[in-house]
Amino acid sequence: MAYDAWIAKRLGIKDDELTRESLGRYQLAKINEIIALTREHSPFYKRHLQGCGSSPLADLADVARLPFLTPHDLRNSGLKMLCVSQGEISRVVTLETSGTTGPPKQLYFTGQDQELTVDFFVQSMSRLIQADERVSILLPADRPGGVGDLLYRAVSRLRALPVKHGLVTKLPVMLENLFTRPVRCLVGVPVQILALAKYYEASGEKRKLRLKNILLCTDYVSPSIVKEIERIWDCRVFDYYGMTEAGLGGGMECSARSGYHLHEADLYFEIVDPVSGGPVLEGREGEVVISTLTRRGMPLLRYRTGDLSRFVPEPCPCGAILRRLEKIRKRKNGPAPPAPYASLAMADLDDVLFPLFGLVDFSVNMVCGKKKNTLELTLYSLHSGIKEQDIRTALSSAPSLLPALASGALDVAMANKIVGDTIFPASAKRQIRVFSS
Ligand SMILES: [Zn+2]
Repeated sequence: MAYDAWIAKRLGIKDDELTRESLGRYQLAKINEIIALTREHSPFYKRHLQGCGSSPLADLADVARLPFLTPHDLRNSGLKMLCVSQGEISRVVTLETSGTTGPPKQLYFTGQDQELTVDFFVQSMSRLIQADERVSILLPADRPGGVGDLLYRAVSRLRALPVKHGLVTKLPVMLENLFTRPVRCLVGVPVQILALAKYYEASGEKRKLRLKNILLCTDYVSPSIVKEIERIWDCRVFDYYGMTEAGLGGGMECSARSGYHLHEADLYFEIVDPVSGGPVLEGREGEVVISTLTRRGMPLLRYRTGDLSRFVPEPCPCGAILRRLEKIRKRKNGPAPPAPYASLAMADLDDVLFPLFGLVDFSVNMVCGKKKNTLELTLYSLHSGIKEQDIRTALSSAPSLLPALASGALDVAMANKIVGDTIFPASAKRQIRVFSS
């Protein structure tokens, strides 16, 4: 089913009745429902929305008059945001944020809330697989209600054959698994699937895999990762936007693969100025703000995600009317590298370093001294170390680094680590860590 047909079904209207206007009317009605629900049942929202007047919003633009919800609110008032009794909560997700003190963020979902996620996954996976095809889920899948488990349920509903593997550790074992029971689709973490593909290539394996589509999630997916995996395995790689706060189902790439089509039946998206919180012009970059339209356990109204992106204003070649969000390359939270590298993001380094042969992962520290800054790279490669000159050449092709490297204002220190055939999954989103010397 095309995206628009699915959304029309969710709205209870005919396919040809779905327009930006009818979607807007639906979203406004849902936002007003959620405001009424939270005011009635949540002690936090009762106080939080006090200054907003009691009449329903007359226009979607009025959503901008509601106060923001911040990660701080989620950490300190999560339980007070509940609109159901704790007995009705079937899943609690705890999100530890590195470098943050105080309690972790907790998100609460009812069984019905999770059903919305499964519906999103059914829709997303139906683009990648057909009945009776085998799908390997290379994500933690043993926790009921976790992302791997919900994907498993969705794939089962499509009458395809899901296999729960968990994260990859031993590359040869995982690869052999893919040969033993021919797999048509993989779902996993970008650097893990890249490592598997590079291991396959470096091992000189003659047998061909029958992979058709791969879905990557949990972190930024660099075009360089997509290109490498598609080159090695001759398949198509897709990406989706799925933060926990968005109920794991924010949006999904279509076959045009130029931005995520947003899941606008369950979520209302805004892009705001990351500093002032005010509106930005259509198509300009800003912070992604979400409001949940259908979640009952712990609805979120105007939650500041910290993700920086923009709406793609041009119509999508696939013809869907759903808004598109550009890939998330940067996040607002956490210490940023100093000027003149303030705009440098892990994504910039991913783009230029992952094409290097044998490189499967790396970590980056920016160490700021009084006179000079140093970029400390730890590179993880499959076999022999990568030549320093190759790394320097690759770094010089990053526009945000070239001037500093050329002028000698930025030192680069490198350490090579050989992973052999065992990889260890990163526990959080990969990002540049900033230190003062
Ligand atoms: Zn499209």
